[in-house]
Amino acid sequence: MNKILNMLKCKCPNCKKGKIFSSKKNRLLFQLPKMDANCAECNFKFEKEPGFFFGAMFVSYALIVAEVVACVVLFKFLLDFSYLKVIIITIVTPVLLSTINFRISRSIWIHMFYGD
Ligand SMILES: [Zn+2]
Repeated sequence: MNKILNMLKCKCPNCKKGKIFSSKKNRLLFQLPKMDANCAECNFKFEKEPGFFFGAMFVSYALIVAEVVACVVLFKFLLDFSYLKVIIITIVTPVLLSTINFRISRSIWIHMFYGD
């Protein structure tokens, strides 16, 4: 449970105290978040090799599929919106959540390899 919380909070997989995205600029919603090169607490290097985070793209894809499925279940099957509204919502939701998906997918990816 703690591991999942550390993953969602984008904590360092080594010390669990430092943050992967610590920059103040990362608080803007639609700006691509900038990762720190090393952990501020334990100096753990986040990007182990060039292209390490390529695989986070597949995690991001899985997150978007989960969000779209959740939107369809919520807005069509539970709230019974029209198909047009459901299609618009399922297109807009991943766009609005794109920066959050970016952070969490990279965090999940690094925790898959270096978390305990
Ligand atoms: Zn650390």
